[in-house]
Amino acid sequence: MSELFDALHPTGHITAKNIREAAERYATPLFLYDRQAILERCAALLAMPEAYGLTVRYAMKANSLKALLSLITEARLAIDASSLHEVRRAHRAGIPYERIMLTSQEVQSAENLDDLQAMLTSGLRLNVCSLRQLHSIGSYAAKHKLDLGIRLHPGVGSGETASRNTGDQYACFGIHRDDLPEALAYAKELGLAFSTVHTHIGSGADSTIWCANIDTELEIIAAHFPEATTVSFGGGFKEARMPEEQAASIEELGAYAKERLEAFYRRTGRKLHMEIEPGTFVIANAGYIVTRLIDKKKNGAEGMNFLLLDGGMELNTRPLLYASQHPFYVVSREGDLLYSDHRPDSSAGFRAAIVGCCCESGDSQTIDAAGQNIARPIIEPEIGDYVVIGGTGAYASSMSPSNYNSHLQAAEILCSPEGHLSLIRRRQTLHQLLANEL
Ligand SMILES: *Cc1c(COP(=O)(O)O)cnc(C)c1O
Repeated sequence: MSELFDALHPTGHITAKNIREAAERYATPLFLYDRQAILERCAALLAMPEAYGLTVRYAMKANSLKALLSLITEARLAIDASSLHEVRRAHRAGIPYERIMLTSQEVQSAENLDDLQAMLTSGLRLNVCSLRQLHSIGSYAAKHKLDLGIRLHPGVGSGETASRNTGDQYACFGIHRDDLPEALAYAKELGLAFSTVHTHIGSGADSTIWCANIDTELEIIAAHFPEATTVSFGGGFKEARMPEEQAASIEELGAYAKERLEAFYRRTGRKLHMEIEPGTFVIANAGYIVTRLIDKKKNGAEGMNFLLLDGGMELNTRPLLYASQHPFYVVSREGDLLYSDHRPDSSAGFRAAIVGCCCESGDSQTIDAAGQNIARPIIEPEIGDYVVIGGTGAYASSMSPSNYNSHLQAAEILCSPEGHLSLIRRRQTLHQLLANEL
């Protein structure tokens, strides 16, 4: 029973004892992932309502570790890759090219173009995202009769912050509506058809805008893509990292998509296969950063309290980038859960800014929308206690400025529901940090 009580996140399986054991075994700071929580999310996504078939692609840029890619694809998700190197990583993790779709801003040339062509002939799916990309691959695709996807710029997007909106007039993802005639004319000239039509409007999208995009996209397909058999609505499902946040309802979004696809069938006689591409939703709440409290400070008698951790922005830069809020947990050296943001009122009035140890005032896990370092409720830990940052499975390890201040990339560990810990990436060494310098 006490194990249950100790689970940090209400829908998670990682306990305070797992935190202590991982920290003792691998030293802090480290990333700890909840294997079961990832599998549950994969199952929930695959169970979403659908009309004529569903493919769920994991957007691997959220977290690209080999062990996690294997876990997620064994749970029957396919892969959305955002660069040629991501395709290479996924393939090296044992994922066949047919299970991978490349949706990238890159324009390949020289050996990379040769490689891309070879991968395409081996089954890689390519989602063409610009006219220049289309021109670079068009004749090869025509010659080899490749099925292509096309990413459209829908003109409307939505993200948790402006910088995560990928569909509005300030973003340059996909082929803009105005360029569609040119793309289609070129494809026609070569005898190319687009089998997949794709949009991705942003991360942490508003559900109503996500749904409105379905209608926009289906209208474009009806008007311009008589040969399309698959429609991708992208990712962007909002996750609730903080207790007061509301996650996207997969059931409701799926039900809406299903209803619209059925209506599309009634109208056009075409049954479209649906794809979605979640990153955040698969893994955000399954990841934790385990740090140790190394110092405490206070800015004068009336000033702010600071808790200094042995890892900060170099592990999770989302607060600095997006002002995102993450839940905190305090675990004693003995492995008892002393504080959880999911159990309100346990802070007893203490508040502190929670910072890392980079020489950078933005190295904070408590930044508000104005970019200001602020104090949040927490208990006052003892030096040596573990301070855990939740909601850090996505866009933390994969995105952060890992070697800033010459901090080394942290070890990453996967935890089973039985508490078995497996090291899935070793801590970087100083030698590795220096290896390429001449
Ligand atoms: C990043 C990305 C996603 C995933 O976004 P999330 O907000 O993590 O779900 C999906 N599709 C594309 C093309 C992306 O670039």
